[in-house]
Amino acid sequence: MNILERLNELKEILNQASYQYYVLDQPTLEDYEYDRYMEELIKLENEHPELKTIDSPTNKIGGEVLSKFEKVVHTTKMMSLSDAFNFDELMDFDARVRKEAPMATYCCELKIDGLSVSLRYEDGILIQGATRGNGEIGENITNNVKTIKSIPLSLKNKNSIEVRGEIFMPKKSFHALNEERALNEEDLFANCRNAAAGSIRQLDSKIAAKRNLDAFLYYLLDDKSNTQVDALKFMQELGFKVNPLYRHCETMEEVFAYIREMAEARQTLPYDIDGIVIKVNEKSLYSIIGETVKYPKWAIAYKFPPEEVKTELLDITYQVGRSGVITPVANFKPVFVQGSLISKATLHNEDYIRMKDIHIGDMVLIRKAGDVIPEVVRSIPEERNKDIVPFCMIKECPCCHTPLVRKSGEADYFCVNPGCSEKIMNRLIHFASKPAYNIDSLGDKLVKQLYEAGYLKSIADIFSLTNYYNELIELPGLGKKSIDHLLEAIENSKKNNLNQLIFGLGIKHCGAKISTILCKNFKTMDALMQARLEDLANIDDIGEAIAYEFVEYMSQDENIQLIGKLKEYGLLMTYQSVEIHENFFTNKKCVLTGTLDAMGRTEAKQRIESFGGSLSDSVSKKTDILILGANPGSKYDKAKKLGIYIMEEEEFLAKLKE
Ligand code: NAD
Repeated sequence: MNILERLNELKEILNQASYQYYVLDQPTLEDYEYDRYMEELIKLENEHPELKTIDSPTNKIGGEVLSKFEKVVHTTKMMSLSDAFNFDELMDFDARVRKEAPMATYCCELKIDGLSVSLRYEDGILIQGATRGNGEIGENITNNVKTIKSIPLSLKNKNSIEVRGEIFMPKKSFHALNEERALNEEDLFANCRNAAAGSIRQLDSKIAAKRNLDAFLYYLLDDKSNTQVDALKFMQELGFKVNPLYRHCETMEEVFAYIREMAEARQTLPYDIDGIVIKVNEKSLYSIIGETVKYPKWAIAYKFPPEEVKTELLDITYQVGRSGVITPVANFKPVFVQGSLISKATLHNEDYIRMKDIHIGDMVLIRKAGDVIPEVVRSIPEERNKDIVPFCMIKECPCCHTPLVRKSGEADYFCVNPGCSEKIMNRLIHFASKPAYNIDSLGDKLVKQLYEAGYLKSIADIFSLTNYYNELIELPGLGKKSIDHLLEAIENSKKNNLNQLIFGLGIKHCGAKISTILCKNFKTMDALMQARLEDLANIDDIGEAIAYEFVEYMSQDENIQLIGKLKEYGLLMTYQSVEIHENFFTNKKCVLTGTLDAMGRTEAKQRIESFGGSLSDSVSKKTDILILGANPGSKYDKAKKLGIYIMEEEEFLAKLKE
């Protein structure tokens, strides 16, 4: 391939990757892969400047602006940053800076892994929030920005200013969001950045509001401060959330020490960072040092190397989900990644495996996406044994051997056999689980045991277990006491609200939230069963795919029969609007730190909410009560500092009973 061909190939790869990353929020490359291609392109263009074109990705900031949003023309261009991947490159940066400004010192800041935002205030009122877009034109996301609690809607001193910073999703919210999406069988977000970008670019600001986004601000336009450190302090005084971990460094040794320290602390931070931004501290030097079309020359982003560990892919096994979806799973030689031993990672689907060129027996790189979910980054074809057998997707269900079906336009294969035992078992497990019908003591293990012993074949069978009392108490590991407990829990569950039942049925796309919305709108099971596509289409938050799957489910004979049986067993078939009983917790804002003996976080939240209180994730001046569990975290210190009432578990349980 000649140089021009390679240049064009690189441009195409980078343009396509940018589209996936910035426009669709669904990256197909790892960041370091993208950076590597970009580095190669920069190098080739430097060696052959006559081949560089104006539309090269090396000249471009960000991606296209989504047409679904109103466009915002930035008064001052929103720049990107040039990158450094090692300390030598930082030394080169320092040399370039010192050539123009020998006295420069640096302000080092965490590089928050989110997306840049510009906020405009007029007479102290927030009037506009915009994405960076392509640097010159961004998207108007004012309504969504207003849902971020740490962004002030008004400023005390009525200033007319523009501030810029980074919107991000805290790790905790990212994990909770992905857990919810997994439960609803929705695609997971690859990392905190994509989750933040996907959330802030929702047309419905109610969705953005629920995603618990946050923002750190780091740049104030037309600022009179002499240094970046002073500017950060001033922004804090104005009421903006500024990341407190910045540091003034006089020398490169101090910069390197800061980078090492922050790289160590990285795992313990509640938000993702992907590097360190090093900015010349003295603002008067900016015009002397200058800028390119894409980035200022007085700042640079040092990117952390990805923590990836090499291991051998031993096998690809397959899981059958409750909807019959087949998920390939990589089984590799166990390795430690960021402190935990892992041996499995999802491979999502056939296309994903082919795209990553993965074969059983390959050496592969493993990392933790968003620091938590194990992921196969890529295979290492250079180390591949020549006799390796190409990957071949299974054609039959690994459980019941029914031929698998892949619908056109879908990436997943499905087992369509309604009698597939793995599918049935996973449906039963989901139905009984806490977030769904919440049958106390009917956990995964017991479901499997009862299924294998022939007592559970469908959800309805749960409610006829009482007919087999004498047989059940004889099963291994079970006795009179546990079966009494189980049957009592099943009987009690019949009073559960209709939204729990709908969620428990495991209808595709019908997660906990959608189930509640449907129940609030239709009130009874009969009305839900008769709902037509056009009735559903009129409801906010119910998209076409959800509506289609719901109507389809309710039209199938086996499901109509199942619901009929559940009615006969006396399950509640009407939606009870949640009645709020007033007590001590009514209107109180609570935060929980550490773990409680008596209940998990979900239950504590439900109990507090049932009295009209709320349980949030972080302590602020507005918090009324901090509930103190075992091994409390930093929220405890913060609450003490703010003088918030601290309630131990014993008192919490007593107050719940009042
Ligand atoms: P960047 O992420 O390298 O750095 C610039 C950005 O850093 C700024 O625009 C700002 O939003 C952010 N930032 C965070 N904290 C900051 C702070 N304290 N001070 C100043 N800025 C701060 O550049 P970019 O242009 O946003 O994105 C390019 C990068 O995105 C690539 O290097 C690559 O890693 C990634 N990318 C990946 C893909 C992919 O397919 N995986 C595609 C396109 C881009």
